[in-house]
Amino acid sequence: MEDEEFTIEGLEPVFLSALEHFSYCPRQCALIHLEQVFDENVYTLRGRAVHQRVHQVDSFSEEGVRVERGLPLWNNRLGLVGQADLVEFQEGIPYPVEYKYGKYREKDIEHAAVQLAGQAICLEEMTGIAVPKGAVYCHSSHRRYEIAITPELRNKVEATTVAVRAMLLEGKLPPPVNDKRCRNCSLNTICMPSAIGDGSKARSLVAGLFQLRD
Ligand code: SF4
Repeated sequence: MEDEEFTIEGLEPVFLSALEHFSYCPRQCALIHLEQVFDENVYTLRGRAVHQRVHQVDSFSEEGVRVERGLPLWNNRLGLVGQADLVEFQEGIPYPVEYKYGKYREKDIEHAAVQLAGQAICLEEMTGIAVPKGAVYCHSSHRRYEIAITPELRNKVEATTVAVRAMLLEGKLPPPVNDKRCRNCSLNTICMPSAIGDGSKARSLVAGLFQLRD
């Protein structure tokens, strides 16, 4: 998508996908959106294939519901930009659907929900119509998780947008979380969370490198 399509007045644009990344791990968000690092693993490769398919711009009707695929999204007030996988217009009300690959559990969806709510806020500004709900679709299980766009979720979108923008402007990598989130993170080998995140391990690694032999 071309940047000139957007008129984000005086704000550093924040990608909708960055909201999910930051919610999951601020360092992951910085590695992708600041350092432009993106490693592939089996989940991201499958996810990319699914996203490429749903991101082809397309418009069609299904059982009387208009469906827009790959719709460009923006919100001038918050400086958000991105693209919707799918937007259904149920009786004229936009209903965004975000596609995810991998084995999403309920607690993983909380991060995708921030991205989805960001899409809803974009659609509201673009159409002038309130968007009360949307869904995260898990491709592997073919399950749709409906998400209410609550005031709490809207606040989280606003706070996360501000935090992502501040991080991008500051240009610094946050420290690793170094917890179970790292296990399936595609950036694990680049991030090296256990070496960097645990000061004692890092110190013993360095000490080992410079140990003098008798
Ligand atoms: S490996 Fe862990 S700390 Fe590093 S980016 Fe991934 S989740 Fe964040």
